[in-house]
Amino acid sequence: MNEHLLKILIVGDGNVGKSSFVHRYVNGQFNKTYKMTMGVDYSVKVLLWSDKEKVRLQIWDIAGQERFISMNRIYYKGALGCVVMFDVTSSASFLSCCHWKRDLDNKAMLPNGDSIPCILLANKCDLAQRVVFADSIDRFSKANGFVNWMEVSVKENKNIGEAMRRLVQQILSI
Ligand code: GDP
Repeated sequence: MNEHLLKILIVGDGNVGKSSFVHRYVNGQFNKTYKMTMGVDYSVKVLLWSDKEKVRLQIWDIAGQERFISMNRIYYKGALGCVVMFDVTSSASFLSCCHWKRDLDNKAMLPNGDSIPCILLANKCDLAQRVVFADSIDRFSKANGFVNWMEVSVKENKNIGEAMRRLVQQILSI
């Protein structure tokens, strides 16, 4: 069986749900008190992609590093895809996605110099206090070169697996 090893980054402001997303995706749980260790830890998830292909995802969460806004190049090294996440109840976290994407475009490049594929995830769509809506997300996503965007709720397990499948699909199609 053919195995692809893909390093994926999760970036976005603090408190948008990055650690919860990784925990949900990798361990199938949503736990309010869960917090990943800070620093360079990554989680691994293996997907049976087809009868001939396996995908081993190495998911790097930048938990605890958000205050630096601009990340150390070591995080970006070798990354083949990225999730940029914000919280639909925080317009500040949405505006920050612009910085995150710019930082990625400057530091995380494919061997041919192209930007790595990024998906934009609008998390906490289960909450009624929403202030960021589909039309502005759609415009922003197109204007900033995201391959795709999706509404997700880590809490309700909405679109988590689907979002990652779309990102992997995009990476493998390059
Ligand atoms: P991080 O700092 O970006 O890693 O964010 P965390 O994963 O620590 O999550 C921040 C807070 O948001 C925690 O209290 C989570 O329980 C909560 N949270 C994460 N995802 C969701 C979601 O989809 N809906 C709701 N309502 N809360 C969420």
